[in-house]
Amino acid sequence: MRIGIDLGGTKIEGIVLDAEGSEKARLRTETPEGSYEQGVEAIVAVVRELESRIGATCSVGVAHPGAISPATGLIKNANSTRLNGHPLDKDLERLLGRPVRLQNDANCFAVSEASDGAAAGCGIVFGVILGTGVGGGVVIDGRPLTGAQAIAGEWGHTPLPQPRDDERPGPRCYCGRIGCVETWLSGPRLQAEFERHTGRTLRATEIAEAAEAGHRRAAEHIELYCDRLARSLSVVINILDPHAIVLGGGLSKIRQLYTRVPELWKQYVFSEPELIVTRLLPPRFGDSSGVRGAAWLWPA
Ligand SMILES: [Zn+2]
Repeated sequence: MRIGIDLGGTKIEGIVLDAEGSEKARLRTETPEGSYEQGVEAIVAVVRELESRIGATCSVGVAHPGAISPATGLIKNANSTRLNGHPLDKDLERLLGRPVRLQNDANCFAVSEASDGAAAGCGIVFGVILGTGVGGGVVIDGRPLTGAQAIAGEWGHTPLPQPRDDERPGPRCYCGRIGCVETWLSGPRLQAEFERHTGRTLRATEIAEAAEAGHRRAAEHIELYCDRLARSLSVVINILDPHAIVLGGGLSKIRQLYTRVPELWKQYVFSEPELIVTRLLPPRFGDSSGVRGAAWLWPA
């Protein structure tokens, strides 16, 4: 049996999967607002509670924000900044008395969808998170690609490709760079642009619904969003040539993406436009992909 833990900013979720990938137990608790040490203890408590429920000792995989720096062995790049600078893997292994596998949460999303999710059976999978932030993860033959800096798949902080005149220089990103993909494709950005042009405050998914209902300005904004996503993904396709790209995060619920973006990326990808076979897919497990992918970090 395998335990997967998804360590989020507001909640810690844990599940137990059996050898076939069926869920045997699930537990959700709030992430403590206090110190890093309290967060680590909360993860350990979730593992112990799940194990007592099923009466077995399990392997443990953890999905977390950021990455463990290969150079220092410490967490970096986590938006839950309390984690940064700590050896989360070592601390968990010491308290649990066994090896623990950790991976970036977008990587775990990609592992889950590539294992028994939307992209099951696909050799090269790029998993994308489109939400408040924009992240990504690469899975090759079922295994996450970590990389020399542990940043493989982090396309959110590269510049928007082929910017139009009115997209230069682009918004400043929290990371200090200008015109990052994340600043163009995040949900808050779509919402803010729509609000500036129309005076209406709608969430990203509501803008997409308005577009489907025939609202012209909403349709224009969704089309522009699709074009920016197509440009951004075309660079990933050129380099990685994935069999499937799976979208996750809140904006993955926008249905237009799955028809429009593959149409639009034909003009950007370096291949015969009508023969591109990379598929763009909605997630099978949605919000559960983090915990499932964490459990899948260990073989059954
Ligand atoms: Zn950035």
